[in-house]
Amino acid sequence: MKALLVEDEQKIASFVCAGLRERGFVVDHCDDGQQGYDYAMTRDYDVVLLDVMLPGRDGLSILKGLRREGRNVPVILLTARNELDDRLEGLNLGADDYLAKPFYVEELLARIHALLRRVSGERQNVLMVGNIRLDRITRVAEVNGRPVELTSREFNLMEYLMRSPGRVYARTQILEHVWGYDFEPQTNMVDVCIQRLRKKVDDGGESPIEAVRGVGYRLRKAGSED
Ligand code: CA
Repeated sequence: MKALLVEDEQKIASFVCAGLRERGFVVDHCDDGQQGYDYAMTRDYDVVLLDVMLPGRDGLSILKGLRREGRNVPVILLTARNELDDRLEGLNLGADDYLAKPFYVEELLARIHALLRRVSGERQNVLMVGNIRLDRITRVAEVNGRPVELTSREFNLMEYLMRSPGRVYARTQILEHVWGYDFEPQTNMVDVCIQRLRKKVDDGGESPIEAVRGVGYRLRKAGSED
């Protein structure tokens, strides 16, 4: 799961980032409204967490801009207790939910999960390709019905490949999606993680994760030979 946090209060930003990352999210953080808007417009997120009062561009204007441009990424507004008007306006502008500060990370996570269930439908929270099954909410991975221990990074990588079996993902795409933009990329990080992942999900036969020379990787479609 990938989240964008647009929040200028450093204390809130650090605990939200830490809390979400601890639970396996990839998080990009912007402390400026204009940058937040640009990120949300040009990059793919499962959820955007949007503060209202921001330098550069305020949260409601970001939300309005996104919806006007047809970006329907789920948005949760983070509002101060007294910003009732902002909440109402936010919901009118197309926010999916709001959360009043201060809040606990657990509360935020519960809202995110409820929202993602609502948005994507229960079915998509369980991904199945061949003999591999991932539950995106409980973050349990299974091969042939047996649970396998994946690190958070390995889980996110597997999830990314499983979204579109057969599609080839470039290493840079994988880096951006699984490690996030704030991460300093090292050239072979993706390959190392793929190797570790293969050891865990390979079933003795041909690996379901296929290297595509000079490009990147893809997940074999179940039952296909190409
Ligand atoms: Ca603020």
